[in-house]
Amino acid sequence: LKKQSKRWCKQAAPVKQSAVLGAGIMGGGVAYQSASTGTPILMKDIREEALDLGVKTASKLLDRKIAKGRLDDAGKTAVMDAITPTLDYKDFWAVDLVVEAVVENPVVKAAVLADVERAVPDDAVLASNTSTISIDSLAESVARPEQFCGMHFFNPVHLMPLVEVIRGSKTSNQTIARTVAYATAMGKTPIVVNDCPGFLVNRILFPYFNAFNRLLIDGVDFQRIDRVMEQFGWPMGPAYLADVVGIDTLVHADHVMQAGFPERMGHDADVIAEALLAADCLGQKNGKGFYEYG
Ligand code: NAD
Repeated sequence: LKKQSKRWCKQAAPVKQSAVLGAGIMGGGVAYQSASTGTPILMKDIREEALDLGVKTASKLLDRKIAKGRLDDAGKTAVMDAITPTLDYKDFWAVDLVVEAVVENPVVKAAVLADVERAVPDDAVLASNTSTISIDSLAESVARPEQFCGMHFFNPVHLMPLVEVIRGSKTSNQTIARTVAYATAMGKTPIVVNDCPGFLVNRILFPYFNAFNRLLIDGVDFQRIDRVMEQFGWPMGPAYLADVVGIDTLVHADHVMQAGFPERMGHDADVIAEALLAADCLGQKNGKGFYEYG
């Protein structure tokens, strides 16, 4: 993977200023990672509270570094200064690359992508952090599809090394190169993959969630399943992972996977996550999902 990235990076115009749309779990994480690896970033949301939370999350991560002696106060100030929270597009005129990380809803994403494209320079790259939605279908909402691709980070962004860079049928090599270079500058390991529902990682992950769902329907306790998978050697089991991902995001993604692969991913029984969503249990983001969080 490193060799492949090096080849792409050689052809790339550097990203000097980036932006992220959405300051939620993923947007906040992208802002922190970009700023702490030296690329200043604008962080846009439609809600002031979301921006506050994104800033607070970055501040907490930096405090942890200070506590471990890996950063001083001046270092923290420099990183925090490199994150600019905003509710509008007014400073987007100098942005080289935008990571779109708003809710996993194709209609919202299409509207946001069309809006941001008008605010950035003509040569800027737009990259969506969608977990599952086809890059080609999202590309229909932009005027410059050759400058659009997927840039799929994993959660939590500061810890997970892999980034899927997704090539749509119209994405140019320059766009892939610039996105790979940005991911590399952020300390990540990019992998270039073709467009399809779920890309690479979620095509592996969702059959696992489906098998988990089947076990729940058969009456197996979710905590027991989590303990077994931890004993198997995985860092966390599927119920805890679902809470980390966010139950709403998981359900949206699951619908896309079912539509994309009806024979392989279709469910023949109720999806437990749907019941949690109906009860407003969104996982760690609102304090209750499979588990409760204080
Ligand atoms: P989230 O619900 O935590 O955050 C979404 C944010 O988008 C919210 O703060 C919301 O206010 C904001 N938003 C909504 N409409 C907006 C708009 N028009 N302009 C700007 N901001 C807007 O969601 P998340 O978990 O961060 O997921 C974001 C994206 O990342 C989704 O596409 C999701 O599939 C993808 N993703 C999520 C994970 C995960 O584990 N949660 C992992 C990889 C990718």
